[in-house]
Amino acid sequence: MKSDIEIAQEAELVHIKEVAEKLGINEDELEFYGKYKAKISDELWESVKDREDGKLVLVTAINPTPAGEGKTTTSIGLGEAMALLGKKAVLALREPSLGPCFGIKGGAAGGGYAQVVPMEDLNLHFTGDFHAITSANNLLAALLDNHIQQGNQLGIDPRQVVWKRCMDMNDRALRNIVIGLGSKMDGMVREDHFIITVASEIMAVLCLADNMEDLKRRLGRIIVAYSFDGNPITADDLHATGSMAALLKDAIKPNLIQTLEHNPAIVHGGPFANIAHGCNSVRATKTALKLGDIAITEAGFGADLGAEKFFDIKCRKAGLKPDAVVLVATIRALKYNGGVPKADLAKDDLESLKKGIVNLEKHIENLQKFGVPVVVTLNSFVTDTKEEIAFVENFCKERNCEFALSEVWEKGGEGGIELAKKVLDTLEHKEAHFKPLYEDEMSLMDKIKTIATEIYGADDVTYSKAALKELKHIEEMGMGNFPVCMAKTQYSLSDDASKLGRPTGFTVNVREVYVSAGAGFVVAITGSIMTMPGLPKVPAANNIDVTNDGVITGLF
Ligand code: ADP
Ligand code: MG
Repeated sequence: MKSDIEIAQEAELVHIKEVAEKLGINEDELEFYGKYKAKISDELWESVKDREDGKLVLVTAINPTPAGEGKTTTSIGLGEAMALLGKKAVLALREPSLGPCFGIKGGAAGGGYAQVVPMEDLNLHFTGDFHAITSANNLLAALLDNHIQQGNQLGIDPRQVVWKRCMDMNDRALRNIVIGLGSKMDGMVREDHFIITVASEIMAVLCLADNMEDLKRRLGRIIVAYSFDGNPITADDLHATGSMAALLKDAIKPNLIQTLEHNPAIVHGGPFANIAHGCNSVRATKTALKLGDIAITEAGFGADLGAEKFFDIKCRKAGLKPDAVVLVATIRALKYNGGVPKADLAKDDLESLKKGIVNLEKHIENLQKFGVPVVVTLNSFVTDTKEEIAFVENFCKERNCEFALSEVWEKGGEGGIELAKKVLDTLEHKEAHFKPLYEDEMSLMDKIKTIATEIYGADDVTYSKAALKELKHIEEMGMGNFPVCMAKTQYSLSDDASKLGRPTGFTVNVREVYVSAGAGFVVAITGSIMTMPGLPKVPAANNIDVTNDGVITGLF
């Protein structure tokens, strides 16, 4: 069996202008980054922004296993199949983070015969968006420390600096550091921290911003520290907004690349799906809706995190109205949820599948709460048996849910025809009545409780003293009307990664709360959430290389 990168490198790419032509875009409306990558210019957006929107399809999944369940693969394959059926479908996907490629994670450009290319570029530096975000983030950090050094007119309390430096690399040694060591000239000594670039609030801000004006407004509102009197200090207070926006001038423009079957994919932005909302940029999704009849987008992790935030944060803030949801499941993940260890997932085991399918059941029920019709798709693995597939199909039918087997990983667009037909049928015949789960006016605690009880299936929520205090503080600062961004393990519906299937009788504990005032949401942290990953004992980096001709190898 060929690896993802082998399949990707065998593909014959066409010039990106030919892909753009399929959408009626001409050369002048693109900004080229070589032959196969381009940015969508502001002029293009201006010329299409008053068009009627196409239909919006979200691809999400059941709770993932450590292997990843194929949301990106399915999204891409669905797009290819739509094109084979003569539909104008445009993908709107996230840009992967560079750092984790050298750790254990697989690439994030799809898989098998459903990929976007050039996958090496996408997984590594791509068009430099993440470098720009890193620079803007660290400019703000530098301006903050310089302000303290130069007399600290704003009275910033160095013990209450909340802004962290960032880097797109898995580097655990930078999680907790001391800066400013040396002489008086070398800055004020304080404890500092690094996070990975995708965890930077600037990433979330960029992904939620409508345009440059909105981007600046959001950047300016970012809270970087609190003063000795307890007042928030913002990026605007440090006069940092303009220079950060200048660094992001090109990063705010969505990128266009192609699928293996030369269909258009807009790939832009990639915020974490725990401490941020985990969706590609609003601008990319809106552009896809204007350029295509159908926009296909993906949200990170399982539907309890990704889809909930897509609906309650992204759609609410951007005024998007999703028309259908594709819920990806795999036999392997369902068995895992039925208690099968990772090493045995390929074994035929109907009993464990029957036990684990309650996870799928809960996600179907959850998605129905948002008023959007659901199509369940089984991302087929070569190890799946006929009996297992039939069991899942029946399970969905009994719940009045559309079902389609997807073989896009193995066959590309051809393998997604059944799924595409089911999605098209749903778009045509089932009306969506999208509504977010909670109202803006509810208190933050009520919002958290609604998500925990309705979506996770918890009995109740408990809070640490610090979390309670901060919730009150955030409401006093006038930000109680923000939506809540839950940071939780992706492996369980609960806040305990070991509780698989459909856990009941548990409470969710909120340990820490803070506001991302620029992004416009309140982050509620349950369990321990990693914002700077580390590398494993044998990192993927050990196998990555480049030939003398510049061909990258070993990137999965
Ligand atoms: P997600 O978007 O849910 O994280 P991806 O689509 O990125 O998942 O897929 C994760 C990994 O699983 C990729 O390396 C991909 O090649 C692999 N994969 C996905 N679907 C299949 C399949 N049907 N058979 C084998 N491997 C698959
Ligand atoms: Mg993905």
